[in-house]
Amino acid sequence: MANPSLLILAGDGIGPEVMAEVKKIIGWFGAKRGVTFDVTEDLVGGCAYDAHGVPLTDATMAKAQEVDAVLLGAVGGPKYDKLDFSVKPERGLLRLRKEMDLFSNLRPAQCFDALADFSSLKKEVVAGLDIVIVRELTSGVYFGEPRGIFVEGNERVGINTQRYTESEIARVARSAFELARKRANKVCSMEKANVMESGILWRDVVQEIHDKEYPDVELSHMYADNGAMQLVRWPKQFDVIVTDNLFGDVLSDCAAMLTGSLGMLPSASLGAPMANGRPKALYEPVHGSAPDIAGQGKANPIACVLSFAMALRYSFNMGDDATRVEKAVEKVLADGLRTADLMGPDGGTPITTTQMGDAILVALDASL
Ligand code: NAD
Repeated sequence: MANPSLLILAGDGIGPEVMAEVKKIIGWFGAKRGVTFDVTEDLVGGCAYDAHGVPLTDATMAKAQEVDAVLLGAVGGPKYDKLDFSVKPERGLLRLRKEMDLFSNLRPAQCFDALADFSSLKKEVVAGLDIVIVRELTSGVYFGEPRGIFVEGNERVGINTQRYTESEIARVARSAFELARKRANKVCSMEKANVMESGILWRDVVQEIHDKEYPDVELSHMYADNGAMQLVRWPKQFDVIVTDNLFGDVLSDCAAMLTGSLGMLPSASLGAPMANGRPKALYEPVHGSAPDIAGQGKANPIACVLSFAMALRYSFNMGDDATRVEKAVEKVLADGLRTADLMGPDGGTPITTTQMGDAILVALDASL
């Protein structure tokens, strides 16, 4: 059987720094677990613009379509702020998401016990938290037509359109139900069916897909504004939350804060199944290129490491090994090792990006 294939696009700023630690873990899997990944590396974002004049070349796009999974670091930086919109680093990432048709964005919010004091919420509210928000990523109000700023009478009017087809709702609902079956088997769907027709359709379609295809999964519905309140009141009531593009954008950032630092948050964007039955997939940390700390060895590599763990689980059918990586991260945190972003107000001595990666490798060795 062919080796699992991975396209690594480390990108800009701290992207290459955090990705270097993931590459060590990929090497560890070859040496210690007998799993060799066929890794190709390429450019995306500002570094691709510097080399080719575009943030993503057609050749790189074609490679992304061929591999089992894409792992991305981060793109962007002040050097590229004045570029024309069409060649900005972020356009490379948007092109990948669009052309791979990655409609289902998974954002886990998991609070490691060792960091429970770090959240802005009370320890008992967040300790042991493990939820995933599934956000629809390719439709809704960010894409609907008509859109624009128009003149009506003697004033301007800004228009965006919330638009969802049944099939767009159905496919992201399936993605959430499939995920729930691998977890605590609970889905809460969030919309505003009380004031939006698209919300009524969303609720109907999610319920239909549930009743026909996933009756074994516990399904509840909640208005998204109440959902935001419940997320900070008692987030542990949730397992998987499925919601549209706009509400998902807001709710997933809210959930992110439950866990403490941006440097801890992985994500996966999944599309339709490929010939091997696994979804098209792109994995990336939630954070950006952090130009303020780039090149200083201060970046926390954990978000990128946990993104790779998600790839093991969702693209390579290696759930046990995904858990092994997550437990290794948990172990180093429990041992008190912290990069600068995880230092509390009392201070302490932070470790570097490389030291954090090395500590995770030691914990992986200990797991064998
Ligand atoms: P950012 O996520 O890069 O940084 C926000 C803050 O969090 C900074 O203080 C940074 O130092 C810190 N931080 C982020 N990741 C960290 C990590 N792993 N370890 C320790 N600290 C970390 O967001 P920003 O400053 O708004 O954006 C910087 C650049 O990144 C911009 O060009 C932006 O467009 C781009 N960006 C890219 C992505 C992406 O590639 N997916 C996402 C967001 C922002």
